[in-house]
Amino acid sequence: MNFPSVDLHCHLDLYQNSTLIAAQCRKAGTYVLSVTTTPRAWRGTAQLAMGNARIKTALGLHPQIAHERLDELPLFDMLLPATRYIGEIGLDGGPQWRSHWRAQMHVFEHILASSSRAGGRIITIHSRRAATAVLDALARYPDAGIPVLHWFSGSKSELSRAIDMGCWFSVGPGMVQSKRGRELVRLMPLDRVVTETDGPFDFVGGRPLEPGEVDGARNALSLCWRTKPEEVAARVLASFRRLVSSAVGGAA
Ligand code: MN
Repeated sequence: MNFPSVDLHCHLDLYQNSTLIAAQCRKAGTYVLSVTTTPRAWRGTAQLAMGNARIKTALGLHPQIAHERLDELPLFDMLLPATRYIGEIGLDGGPQWRSHWRAQMHVFEHILASSSRAGGRIITIHSRRAATAVLDALARYPDAGIPVLHWFSGSKSELSRAIDMGCWFSVGPGMVQSKRGRELVRLMPLDRVVTETDGPFDFVGGRPLEPGEVDGARNALSLCWRTKPEEVAARVLASFRRLVSSAVGGAA
């Protein structure tokens, strides 16, 4: 059986030929969470999903540009009622971004507070070199919704804390290339893992991954879980359906 791909974190609007790529997603029946990096990009990106219920457009403000886009928070709040999905948001503790830590934290907390007030959302979260700070913030906003940690690269103890807090995980091919990444995946709860590409930022064979191109992720999960890739596909699809049918943020 051929299961449709689940891509829970993809930057559809950042492909050069995004309209064509969106049409290909429709043809393939791919489920895509199309994430945005600024509130200003949301409307245009949502148009790429028009007439295709399998593409959902998340409202985001990426931590690496948070300091430049503080003035877009009112727009974020204005658009929030229009979607059940938030992302990409989060924190980045890398050396390049640490100098903007306060702005990152301000944006992240603002959005978690807004989401809580709005009844919660499904949230795709960046936590590179910042897993503990992300989890601390999520603990301060327990009603923000369902966090899905994308490309998680924290420690084992941070992972176990995230699991205890009810986090989900989206796993892409890039994350399972290292032994350490695969060890983390093995420790994740099987029923809270979905696939992602993070395209066009992650590559395969020198070209950006396309939305729904999750074969690499499925194969890696099949090794980690010692099960066939088809069973991985079926399991991920079932988990995805459970995630999106949650009561968070209103009707699916
Ligand atoms: Mn991303």
